[in-house]
Amino acid sequence: MSRRVDVDGVSVATGHFINNERLDCAETFEDRSPLDWTWKLADVSAGNADVADRALRAAHDAFGDWSARSPKERGELLNRLAVLIDEHVEEIAHVECLDMAMLEESLRQRVIARGARNFRAYAELASNYESRRWDSNTTHNQVLRMPAGPTVVITPWNAPFMLSTWKCAPALAAGNTVVLKPAEWSPLSCSLLMDLVAEAGLPPGVFNLVQGIGEVVGAALVAHPLVRRVSFTGSPETGRAIGVAAARNLVPFTAELGGKGPFVVFRDADLDLAATTAAKMFDDAGQVCLAGTRLIVEDTIRDEFFTRFAAATNQHVLGDSRDASTTISPLIHPDHLARVEGFVDRARTNGDRVVFGGQRWRDDGLWYLPTLIEPTNNDAEIVQREVFGPVVTLQSFHGDEEAHALANSTAYGLSAMVFTDSQERATRFAQAVRAGTIWTNCFLVRDLTAPFGGCGISGIGREGGDYALDFYSDLKTFQVKEGTTHG
Ligand code: NAD
Repeated sequence: MSRRVDVDGVSVATGHFINNERLDCAETFEDRSPLDWTWKLADVSAGNADVADRALRAAHDAFGDWSARSPKERGELLNRLAVLIDEHVEEIAHVECLDMAMLEESLRQRVIARGARNFRAYAELASNYESRRWDSNTTHNQVLRMPAGPTVVITPWNAPFMLSTWKCAPALAAGNTVVLKPAEWSPLSCSLLMDLVAEAGLPPGVFNLVQGIGEVVGAALVAHPLVRRVSFTGSPETGRAIGVAAARNLVPFTAELGGKGPFVVFRDADLDLAATTAAKMFDDAGQVCLAGTRLIVEDTIRDEFFTRFAAATNQHVLGDSRDASTTISPLIHPDHLARVEGFVDRARTNGDRVVFGGQRWRDDGLWYLPTLIEPTNNDAEIVQREVFGPVVTLQSFHGDEEAHALANSTAYGLSAMVFTDSQERATRFAQAVRAGTIWTNCFLVRDLTAPFGGCGISGIGREGGDYALDFYSDLKTFQVKEGTTHG
């Protein structure tokens, strides 16, 4: 009998999931709720090199059969999994809310359902792949996709269910088998997903889960000789370590890493739209890689923008993530709160001006007030490094060129936002700015067929649409000499 724990009315397995069976370890790690740090949710199995080896052998053994199935056959099972996710949105949303403190309403309405959508989208995309064909002088040519093999997926603690399914869905649809390792700060919603994997009837070994500490079991998974692809989302620091390990085995690796998005407002923008969208950078307590955390505003409208932005920020309600009225949740972990505080303290020491916020909301919780900082200059740490909390900076510019230069002035390049009513200005901005996604007069709009990823230290490679299916496949060119085959 595998170990399960009651998490506020939802039964959650605390072990790994390998070959469609639970595996418990004697060694465990504690998982606590950011809503109340005295609340221990679970003792979760802590994987090690032996568990990593078992999971990858299971994935290796299942690969032959799974990769030989047609995309349509695989798609039917993935669609069944999507239906089950939709049926279990309430429980998954509740557990993820308790585990990482994302707002329950938004998890229920949007985020968990996106997990189902990830599987549906890739079931369809993989089934409709049209192989490129062309004739040259002497040969008929065709590009074929070949499933790559066992794939390791490692994900961060923010939005763990959505981000994990975003990577696992294309890997599975492309014919790969998967070992998923979610982050140790929010491991529970992915465990619920595995109950549904078994119920949907995915064959044993196709989709496995390993729990544990990144530097231990994550590192063992990435370095394992049976791995054929590594897909990672997390910080640039861990991305580097994983990239080095993948390179040792010559395994292709994709990384979606941190961001420090510029949020650029031109004088011709709809200022209310820009200000209310800017205030959304505090949603999810700012723990969003895509957030535009550097507000860069044309000098002539700086004061007007600031007034509207401060008013929109005042509408935020800090509170318990289970309450529908709450808009700002606590941070994930005391260590993360200390990290955010460290950034703001160092900014003060540096002479940067804390315009509002800059402290905890209450002594007895993990909330941090929405914070605005005016840096002394563009080299300040608070401008150059990702905080991953409710902290944004405000700078002003004069003219398009300076706006572009400031937007491009960090080592990151994940997302950028521009607010203007000029199509021409927006297009110039999009051409000049180095980022994986550029939103004009909007934020967080996603089309799952579009490429997604980062430039610079924000990542390597692109996922989304066919780009992900290409990454999870080996592409081969099939050539036939003209006139040598019949029928
Ligand atoms: P992290 O890098 O600390 O950890 C991410 C994952 O890597 C965890 O599962 C962890 O256990 C594992 N890990 C840690 N060390 C490892 C090692 N040596 N080998 C293998 N695995 C290891 O990141 P985090 O703190 O969980 O997440 C926050 C970061 O993720 C932020 O920088 C954020 O911007 C980024 N992020 C990026 C995106 C994106 O799409 N670009 C999305 C969400 C989060």
